[in-house]
Amino acid sequence: TEETLLKAEKLSMVGELAAGFAHEIRNPLTTIKGFVQLLTETTKETVFTRTILDEIDRINSIVSDFMIFARPHSTDFTECNLASILQDAGKFLEPEAMLKNVILITHFPQKEVFITGEKNQLKQVFLNIIKNAIEAIPNGGIVSILLEEHEKAAIVTIKDSGVGLTEEQLAKLGEPFFTTKATGNGLGLMVTYKIIRDHRGTIDVHSEGPGKGTAFTVTFPYTQRGLS
Ligand code: ADP
Ligand code: MG
Repeated sequence: TEETLLKAEKLSMVGELAAGFAHEIRNPLTTIKGFVQLLTETTKETVFTRTILDEIDRINSIVSDFMIFARPHSTDFTECNLASILQDAGKFLEPEAMLKNVILITHFPQKEVFITGEKNQLKQVFLNIIKNAIEAIPNGGIVSILLEEHEKAAIVTIKDSGVGLTEEQLAKLGEPFFTTKATGNGLGLMVTYKIIRDHRGTIDVHSEGPGKGTAFTVTFPYTQRGLS
C-alpha cells in the first residue's frame, strides 16, 4: 500500500542519515577504546575501566547495526545455500534455546536451496528472527524453522509459541528503537527488514494475537535465477 511504501521511504532516509553518523562515531570510539585499553595496562583493570570498555562495545554494536544502511547493494552477492545458513543460525542459538526450555525444530525437505545474496547478511537475518522467537517465549515452548522451495521462490517460515503481538506492535515492527524488552535496543528487525529488501525479498508477520504465538515468513522470489 501507499502507506507502507511511504514508511519504507522514510525509514531508508533516516537509515542513510544514521549510517553517516555511525561512521563518524566509530572512529573516535576506536581511539577511546585504544587509550582505555592502554590505561588498563599501565594502571590495572578496575570496575570503572571494565564498564567503560563494555559500554564502548555496546555503542559499537549499535553503530554496526546502522552501518548496514551505508553498504552498497548486491556487491558481494554469491550463491548461498539457505538450508546451511538456517542450520548454522539454529546451531548458534541452540544453547540460548536450551537455557529457556525452548525446543528448536528445523524442517528442511531439501538440503540445498540456493538464492543469490550475501551469506553473512542472510545469516544475520535469521539469527535476529530466531533470537526474537526464542525471547518471545517466557516459560518454554517451540520454535519451528521451515524451509520450502517453490518453483518461483524460496520461503522460510519461523514460528514460535510465544507471547504474540498486538495490532499496534505489529504495525511498529522494523521501526528503529521499537522494543518491548527491558534490555532490547529495537534495531534487530530494522536491520533484518533492510537486508531482506536488499535481497529483493519480502517479510510477512502473522500473529493470532497476544499469547498465541507469531510466524515470520521470509520470501525470496527467484526473479534473477540463472542470471547474475
Ligand atoms: P529487540 O529484540 O532488541 O527488542 P527487535 O527489532 O529484534 O528488537 O524486535 C523489536 C520488537 O518486536 C521486540 O521488542 C518485540 O516486541 C517484537 N517482536 C519481534 N519478534 C517477535 C516475536 N517472535 N514475538 C513477539 N514479539 C516479537
Ligand atoms: Mg531482537
